[in-house]
Amino acid sequence: MDKKKLGTRDAKTKPAHGKEEKTYKRPLWVKSGEEELCPDCFKVVGDKSRYNMVCMLGKAKEGMTVGELTEQVKLAQPTVTHHLNMLRSVDAVESKTRGRERVYKLNRDAHCFEECRIPFE
Ligand SMILES: [Zn+2]
Repeated sequence: MDKKKLGTRDAKTKPAHGKEEKTYKRPLWVKSGEEELCPDCFKVVGDKSRYNMVCMLGKAKEGMTVGELTEQVKLAQPTVTHHLNMLRSVDAVESKTRGRERVYKLNRDAHCFEECRIPFE
């Protein structure tokens, strides 16, 4: 019996998305979490403004519209939409329609937050 395996987070057993791909070093602006990030997670945090949006959504329990995000991150709306699409492509963010608006919420159960422990608050 190899006791080390019990309860140890072994990076080699972690390719939750199937592929054994290269990893990326966690950027400086992400204060905790795994040191080595999978490509999906790097998509989420690799761009500082994108990660900034993740943190804003993490605090906004009811979610935010593109308009609200645009106002707060001080980026052009197409840029915000682009970041949101990237985040949705890895399931970090989900969107719902509320009335005539589309509201974006952080998907707290996503791989990035559950497995790679990227902080979002
Ligand atoms: Zn990951």
